Amino acid sequence: MELHSPVTAVKGVGEELAKKLAVLGVKTVADLVDYLPRRYEDYSEVVSIRDMQPGPVTVKAVVKQATGRYVRRGMHITEAVASDETGSIRLVWFNQPYRANGLKVGAAYYFSGLFELSHQRMQMTSPSAELVSDLTVNTARIVPVYRETKGLTSKQIRKVVGNCRSLTRTLPETLPGWLVREQKLMSRAEAVLAMHFPIDGVQLAEARRRLGFEEVFELSLAALMNKQELAADESLVIPFDGQLAKDFVGHLPFTLTDAQRKAVWQIYQDMQSDHPMNRLVEGDVGSGKTVVATMAALMALRHGCQVAFMAPTELLARQHAETIYKLLQPLGMESKLALLVGALTSAQKKKAHQAIATGRARFIVGTQALIQDKVDMHELGLVIIDEQHRFGVEQRKELMKKAGHMPHLLSLTATPIPRSLALTLYGELDISVLAQKPAGRQPIRTEIVSPNSVEPAYADIRKELDDGRQMFVVCPLIAESETVNAHSAEKTYEQFQKKEFKQYRVGLLHGKMKADEKNAVMQRFVTHELDVLVSTTVIEVGVDVPNASVMMIQSAERFGLAQLHQLRGRVGRGQAKAYCYLMMGDSSAPSRRLRALESSQDGFKLAELDLELRGPGAIYGQMQHGALDLRVAKLTDVKLIAEARASAAEFLKRGESLVQYNELSTRVARLRTVTNLN
Ligand code: ADP
Ligand code: MG
Repeated sequence: MELHSPVTAVKGVGEELAKKLAVLGVKTVADLVDYLPRRYEDYSEVVSIRDMQPGPVTVKAVVKQATGRYVRRGMHITEAVASDETGSIRLVWFNQPYRANGLKVGAAYYFSGLFELSHQRMQMTSPSAELVSDLTVNTARIVPVYRETKGLTSKQIRKVVGNCRSLTRTLPETLPGWLVREQKLMSRAEAVLAMHFPIDGVQLAEARRRLGFEEVFELSLAALMNKQELAADESLVIPFDGQLAKDFVGHLPFTLTDAQRKAVWQIYQDMQSDHPMNRLVEGDVGSGKTVVATMAALMALRHGCQVAFMAPTELLARQHAETIYKLLQPLGMESKLALLVGALTSAQKKKAHQAIATGRARFIVGTQALIQDKVDMHELGLVIIDEQHRFGVEQRKELMKKAGHMPHLLSLTATPIPRSLALTLYGELDISVLAQKPAGRQPIRTEIVSPNSVEPAYADIRKELDDGRQMFVVCPLIAESETVNAHSAEKTYEQFQKKEFKQYRVGLLHGKMKADEKNAVMQRFVTHELDVLVSTTVIEVGVDVPNASVMMIQSAERFGLAQLHQLRGRVGRGQAKAYCYLMMGDSSAPSRRLRALESSQDGFKLAELDLELRGPGAIYGQMQHGALDLRVAKLTDVKLIAEARASAAEFLKRGESLVQYNELSTRVARLRTVTNLN
């Protein structure tokens, strides 16, 4: 048996078991050794029977009797009695007919499992049982629990992993020796072994630290190498024109926040370099990212290059184009703008293409289809990407092919990411944070509403609408569903239009509608031909209707914290007081998530709570990010992350070459293709 052997080389793994393991992605012995537990159950403390408390326990006891019998409808039950010096207990197993014969009367076993009340008697239900020895797998220890599949339990996995013990001990080291020594890390072999068979909590923690360190180290190394490579690329130098910036700012109806000013300044610095900018502007909803992006574009336009602005949806592309048009108008630069979206008629498209070809239009706003479109972008100097988490290496390369050089890149995101996390996830990006909201913004009054007290909320909303304000209503579903018990946009629309809000103009917007229908409805809401817009989360990111002061979220418990915060950010963008109603789908107690939202408006704080409640995979999973393969490292472990990052920098500083580290080099190479986000 060697690491690269098929998993059938492991003792106890036949064809049948191999098939099931394959479902879990385990094909070779190496895969099996690398199949780390998801969690652990601590059965290490052995108690005497007299001291047993309800819950998971381990006892060491001698079997006194064991019998099996069939009860009604083919159900089998095994009952046993075992004792130690302090007392006896009842043990019960269901549908394990082999149990009774497997237990030797008179022999001492460890029993680990749940001690509970059943039919007025205390018993251990379906405990694991092993003869007393130093090498138990399922009992009297910290027991690993693996991701299981149909017909394959953790117990079976433990057994076959146990048969790889001696091979696991020979796993080669993957990190440089100096690093292992400097950081006082466990060897890789020791760590993997301890993950599967931890002796105690201390050893397990050390094993986790070693493997988590390695993950973050690899990730950081990949990011730093990408950063180095990018820094070696050539790009256009876009000079700074102070007068132009002054003119632009002078025409704004507001003053920039300090955070905006600083971000713009950082961007101008970046663009004046002959190496491409790779900057992320991270700012909560409503923090004013569009102005920042437009100011970046301004210099590129003045210098005579093209700017591409990509939004995640056509709707947003249109909105951005309108906003930017207004921002550029006072400078007489609005004619430089062209909107390129799929819903344009072919005549409109032709006109846009012409304007671009002649160089009249240089600021092109659209969706990601922009890169595929047959637009001549050989003068592309700056690419701005709004809320696009999947802009990777490939797209970048395409842009480079089109332009013949690497354009400066500016990404905007409203997803507030705690700093330690941002550094790991976006290690190769420079980050500007718009932590400050524009002055004069009032907190959005947020209220959880249970189904039996909607009327007072509706009454308050009607007052707002009567004052000439507008309301967004967001629902988790488009149409009613048999299986999901939650509000749908269609039903809500129908009901509001006929009943609760019948004296107002109500519109419907959802993702299944055609693009031009969607635009038409959105347009009517923007121009206030509609008072109420019932929709799904299509309006989630970026939509800006300052006159809307009410956000109603139906079946709010269906949404994640970050998403709710984003949705709420659609209102409260003007000076007027704004409201957010979190409508509960049923009258159960509101979750911690909803209550957090009620009491806090701080996106970063909420993001940290979300991270704690759901873990990074659940939140940032949608980013399809390689970093989220993190199996061991906790992104909340700030110290570990800092150490691993610093070590990656040191690795490069020492002039170490990856060539010497086979496995490390393969993994880093793979990470480099996925971490190159935005
Ligand atoms: P987001 O960061 O969510 O993309 P936007 O760029 O859409 O935010 O800006 C939200 C609103 O705030 C817009 O109406 C914009 O005109 C306004 N705004 C932007 N910057 C400021 C500022 N410094 N002071 C006041 N209002 C601002
Ligand atoms: Mg925006």
